[in-house]
Amino acid sequence: MSQNNKGSGEKVTTSQGYPLPNPFETQRIGNHGPLLLQDFNLIDSLAHFDRERIPERVVHAKGSGAYGFFEVTDDISDVCGSGFLDTIGKKTKALVRFSTVGGEQGSADAARDPRGFAIKLYTEEGNLDWVYNNTPVFFIRDPIKFPHFIHTQKRNPQTHLKDPNMFWDYLVQNQEAIHQFMILFSDRGTPATYRHMNGYSGHTYKWSNAKGEWRYIQVHLISDQGIKTLNNEEAGSLSGSNPDHAQEDLFNSIEKGDSPSWTAYIQSMTEEEAQNLPFSVFDLTKVWPHDQFPLRRFGKLVLNENPENYFAEIEQAAFSPSHTVPYQEASADPVLQSRLFSYPDTHRHRLGTNYAQIPVNCPYAKTFNPILRDGAMTINGNYGSKPNYYSGTVPTPVEYTPQPKVNYQSNQEYWQGTAQPFHWKVEGDIDYVQARDLYNKVLSKTPGQQENLAHNISVHVCGAKPEIQDEVFKLFNKISKKLSEDIQKEVFKLSPRSNYQQTTSSNASGKCPYGHSKL
Ligand code: NDP
Repeated sequence: MSQNNKGSGEKVTTSQGYPLPNPFETQRIGNHGPLLLQDFNLIDSLAHFDRERIPERVVHAKGSGAYGFFEVTDDISDVCGSGFLDTIGKKTKALVRFSTVGGEQGSADAARDPRGFAIKLYTEEGNLDWVYNNTPVFFIRDPIKFPHFIHTQKRNPQTHLKDPNMFWDYLVQNQEAIHQFMILFSDRGTPATYRHMNGYSGHTYKWSNAKGEWRYIQVHLISDQGIKTLNNEEAGSLSGSNPDHAQEDLFNSIEKGDSPSWTAYIQSMTEEEAQNLPFSVFDLTKVWPHDQFPLRRFGKLVLNENPENYFAEIEQAAFSPSHTVPYQEASADPVLQSRLFSYPDTHRHRLGTNYAQIPVNCPYAKTFNPILRDGAMTINGNYGSKPNYYSGTVPTPVEYTPQPKVNYQSNQEYWQGTAQPFHWKVEGDIDYVQARDLYNKVLSKTPGQQENLAHNISVHVCGAKPEIQDEVFKLFNKISKKLSEDIQKEVFKLSPRSNYQQTTSSNASGKCPYGHSKL
């Protein structure tokens, strides 16, 4: 575009299509006088700019995304009757958005944080969203703790700083989170890139086959690039030198044709097997041990296309575990149940009630629901003159989908009972068992991983008050005496107690990366 709009490129117009002789011209009185209210293009440009931002997601604000496809590699029709899985080799268009959780939109990709791994599959039976993370477990199992927990990972209400006191105080008071904290503080808490990490459903889902037989399911997406992680110091320095390193890596890899992929597996469990577990199948803080529930391969997810426009296609992408297809359902996992509400609620807030009409969110499958009418940004024709209710007298060209031969939901769990107060407390030893397995059986296999865990915790917990540090040492002692001692030793080195007595607002040794909070 030339500045006088006379070049051979696209001609600039106002938002209403008026061809602008020069897009930089404004209307004013004389050579130096005030500007005119009648200058629609100036006012429209400034007013539009003022509205460019939409609310950022309260969690998962910083993200990166790409398109690709899901390909069926193995028959699992005995487990799932969903159409997109019915033929080996069948491909379904996919959109994936990776993210960090706690940081704001400009925060560093290398932060120690779980990573979101949200997938939209545009299937012939509607959109299926798998809204996963790179960790197989999570911090909570009582959904009401979510806002409470996230507040402790965000900024202190007074100092507006990240606060190690809030962070560790939460853990010692909510010890069901220990398993996820240990994964987070292992080197898997700082993946090298989005390509080098796995995705896990974490939650238990319910899948059914065409005969109506159902199972509990967990999905694992294992990176074909392998796992690569950063150590604490590499992550810290990358956060400063290139806060967008994971966005850059994903975009550039796809741009040069190096398409990342993940192999998809399920773990499945019958209702009877679930009743015999030592923990609840709906407990989001637990994994299903591989030896009892082996992985079964069924597909491949490939990312091979960058979005044309980040804001339109990634910032506006709206995922929800309640966007599902026949034969795949949520289980009674309480955190999953609350996500079914909370995700679409966020989209209605950020994008409006018609978020499903935004092209990136719009199903490729035909939709017809003339009850979903009107509202801000109705752009899909609004079902024209068709009745806005299911009329008995006005013929409504409703084609009801034929019922499947088997009502696959009819033989599922039977729930009955009175309304009950529910708080899933930590009781007994079971909430520490898998965290111990991680330390003793898994991290021990790779030299340096147990030491890195202790170090990664120490350089963070050294910023907390001594009384909170003491509780952290006691908690890790329940996992391993050695782990607790290693943490304690390094914390005392980084943040000697005598220094704490002298100064509560900064760390006199200067070695602890966090200053003590005054609060
Ligand atoms: P396994 O020995 O069969 O599984 C251990 C799994 O841990 C590996 O397959 C791998 O899963 C994952 N892993 C390997 N290295 C690390 C690491 N440095 N940090 C975190 N995870 C790692 O035993 P179990 O199935 O009985 O699980 C034992 C423990 O392993 C669990 O308590 C849990 O903490 C952890 N784990 C288990 C997973 C599961 O689904 N069973 C998944 C991930 C972790 P992957 O192939 O998925 O990378």
